[in-house]
Amino acid sequence: MGETDYADRGRGAGFATRAIHAGQHPDESTGAVTTPIYQVSTYAQQAVGVHKGYDYSRTANPTRTALEQNLASLEGADLGYAFSSGMAAADAILRSLSPGERVVLGDDAYGGTFRLISGIYGPAGIPWSARDLTDPEALVESWPEGTRLVWLETPTNPGLNIVDIAAVAELAHERGALCVVDNTFATPYLQQPLALGADLVIHSTTKYLGGHSDVVGGFVGTNDAELGEGLGFVQNSAGAVPGPQDCYLTLRGIKTLPVRMDRHCDNAAAIVAMLSDHPAVARVLWPGLADHPGHEVAARQMSGFGGMVSFIASGGRDAAFELVTHTRYFTLAESLGAVESLIEHPGAMTHASTEGSPLEVDDALVRLSVGIEDIADLTADLRGALDAVS
Ligand SMILES: *Cc1c(COP(=O)(O)O)cnc(C)c1O
Repeated sequence: MGETDYADRGRGAGFATRAIHAGQHPDESTGAVTTPIYQVSTYAQQAVGVHKGYDYSRTANPTRTALEQNLASLEGADLGYAFSSGMAAADAILRSLSPGERVVLGDDAYGGTFRLISGIYGPAGIPWSARDLTDPEALVESWPEGTRLVWLETPTNPGLNIVDIAAVAELAHERGALCVVDNTFATPYLQQPLALGADLVIHSTTKYLGGHSDVVGGFVGTNDAELGEGLGFVQNSAGAVPGPQDCYLTLRGIKTLPVRMDRHCDNAAAIVAMLSDHPAVARVLWPGLADHPGHEVAARQMSGFGGMVSFIASGGRDAAFELVTHTRYFTLAESLGAVESLIEHPGAMTHASTEGSPLEVDDALVRLSVGIEDIADLTADLRGALDAVS
């Protein structure tokens, strides 16, 4: 490789540079500029136990290492662990709890996280409580005894509420609990929870990081060596690891994260302006709005307001159901964060598992993942659908 030392590539560089270079370097044997897909399960050893850092791909794989180092760099984490899905990543964190240790979950959160905590960990002896984490003072008043983990999203899915990460992390630490932040909606480009005091940051890399609706994955980052050791142990022992092709696709997506996020944010702002003026819309939920209750906190802890927009349909559930079938470019589908725009009804789709729970969502709520298409086409598409139902 001549004189160039790539080992530390990206250290000290800006975000967009790290998105492209951190964890990645030209292949030492061929010079290939892109990290290859190491489609391999096992590795030759020079003698028993003597190898080049890789012995079996559940334990480690070079394409996965590149992804882990890359995302750790973007989140300002010393340690990063990639998983086969966001839920597998959440599961790896929750496995650190012992029976009796309580989880506090925000009362607006991804339905799958709620299902994992309430349907699998609850019955296994991990008690849980739902709390409104947007109000740290109320949380102090109603702090459940024995809480070990506070699990927060911000912005929340699907209500787009904002939680003050620094305030909740401090409060958790004063009470001997850890703070986990699901950073899927914001991405590290807009918000870096570890720098604000969180102990763990988790992602569904399926969403903005992958960015193209072609891969499912998860990630956890931390600066705590002990927590990291536990995560690595679970990753290797339980084995919910992503394959090399999935790691490659995620790395490929991350390279354009900064430019995509800028466009997602701009397009969302324009969609919000249109929605705010439309009679078929009762209320728009987006932290960039000056009258959003979390606007000030969002402006402080995020560098942009993101591409996710939710709104309440004036005509209730029926109008919402009707609306989501009338768009052409906003595809009716679960998931979010990719280049193409999506529309969905959380109550009946992504958050159906929360029905009857404290996390239940308004049945007139519609959620948009605003893509990076031409904004004139997106605005016309959505306005046309809204006109059709008003
Ligand atoms: C999608 C999602 C998850 C779950 O991730 P998967 O990759 O689907 O397993 C977790 N949290 C949030 C906020 C999500 O949107």
